[in-house]
Amino acid sequence: MKRIYLDYAATTPVDKEVLKEMLSYFNKKFGNASSIHSFGQEAIAAIDKSRGKIAKLFCCDFSEIIFTGSATESNNLAIKGLVRKISEFGFQATANLSYRKDLRLTPKSTRTLHIISTKIEHESVLEPLKELEESGHKVTYLPINREGFIKILDLEKNIKDNTVLVSIIYANNEIGTIQPIKEIGKLLEKINKKRQESGFSKIYFHTDAVQALNYLECRPDWLKVDLLTFSGHKIYGPKGIGGLYVRKNTPLLPIISGGGQEFGWRSGTENVPYIVGIAKAVDLAIKNREKRSKYILDLRNKLWKNIIKYNKGAKLNGSFSSRLPNNLNIRFAGLSNEMLIVALDQAGIAVSAGSACSSRALAASHVLAAIGLSEKEAKESVRITFGKDTTNSEIKKTIEIINKIVKKL
Ligand code: PLP
Repeated sequence: MKRIYLDYAATTPVDKEVLKEMLSYFNKKFGNASSIHSFGQEAIAAIDKSRGKIAKLFCCDFSEIIFTGSATESNNLAIKGLVRKISEFGFQATANLSYRKDLRLTPKSTRTLHIISTKIEHESVLEPLKELEESGHKVTYLPINREGFIKILDLEKNIKDNTVLVSIIYANNEIGTIQPIKEIGKLLEKINKKRQESGFSKIYFHTDAVQALNYLECRPDWLKVDLLTFSGHKIYGPKGIGGLYVRKNTPLLPIISGGGQEFGWRSGTENVPYIVGIAKAVDLAIKNREKRSKYILDLRNKLWKNIIKYNKGAKLNGSFSSRLPNNLNIRFAGLSNEMLIVALDQAGIAVSAGSACSSRALAASHVLAAIGLSEKEAKESVRITFGKDTTNSEIKKTIEIINKIVKKL
C-alpha cells in the first residue's frame, strides 16, 4: 500500500537538492570551524556562505543571522535571552558588548518586566514564558477570537511602562491562521518612538515564523520585527537545526555558553552539514514560495470542498481566509479524532490531531481551547496539512477514504 503523508506541518522530508548540498560536509569537508588549518577554513567558509545566503534572502546583515539547534532553542533564546538581559543589566544594555564582557558586568538588581504574547503560541514559546513568570515577570496572553486572531487594539491596551517584549506567532501550527505581524510591527514602531523620548525601554518584537516561511513574506525589515524564529525541518531541510534573526543592538543573554560560537549567542561546535542544509532549504522555500502556495492551495480547497459536500457535520476550525494555504483543521462532530486518525492510518493516510511536536498523547489542544472549542469539540478535530510533494491523485484517494471512514465510524 502506498502511504499518503498529509502531516507537513509536523515535519517535511528533506529535499533532494538540500541533501545533495549537505552530504560532503559529513565525511569529506568535515572540519571544525574553529580550527585554523584548511579543514577548519573549509568549514567556516561553508558557514559564512550559508549565513550570507539567508541574510541576502532576508535582506538583513550577515551578523543578524544565528544558527541554533532547533526552532525551540531559537524561541527560548529570543524570549528568555532578551528578558533576562534587560532585567539584569537594564534596558540600556545592548548587543554592542561581547557576551563575555557582558557576563562579567555586575547585574543591577533584577527588575520585573512585562511581556505580551498569545494563548495560541507553540509550546516552545509558552514554556519559556512560564519560566519567566515563575521568576517574577508578568505575561499578558492576548485573547483569540473564534476565527483564530488577536485584536491589535487588545495589544495596544495592554502595553505597560515596563513592557519589553511582544512575542506573537506568525502562522499557527494547528489552525494555520495568520496574525497581522506587519501591522503590529508598524504599531510598535510608532509606540517605540514616543517611548524613546520618555526614557522607557524599547518594546522588542519577536515572531515565531516556523510555519510561515514556506508561504509568507518573512523579511524582518518588512515585518518590522527584531527577532524571528525559523526551523529547518518545516521547510524541507534537516531536523535539529534552527535559525534566529536578531536585529542589531537587540539585547540578548545567551542561554548556552561555552566557546562563543555564533557571535557569542550560541556556543557549541557548529553543525556544518545542517547549516548548509537549512540555508539551501530557506533559499528553495523563498524561490518557490509563490508557485508552491498556489499549487497547494488548489489541492487543499479541492479536499475541503469534497469533505463538506459529503459530510454535513464537518466544520473548519479557524478562519478560511487568512490561513496558510496548506492547512485544514476540521471538526467532525460526534467523531473522536483518535479513532479517525487510527482508521485513516490503517488505510494509509497520515494526518494528526494538532501539534505533533509536543507529545504523542492526544491531549485536547490549547489552541482549539483558545478559539472557544470545548474539550469534546477539540477531541473531534483533525489537522490535515499538505506539502509540495502532495499530488492530485493522493487528494482524490484521500477524499474517497475520508468520506468512507467518516460514514462508517
Ligand atoms: N514553532 C512552531 C510554530 C512549530 O510548529 C514548531 C514545531 O512544530 C516549533 C516552533 C518547534 O520547532 P523545532 O521542531 O525546530 O524545535
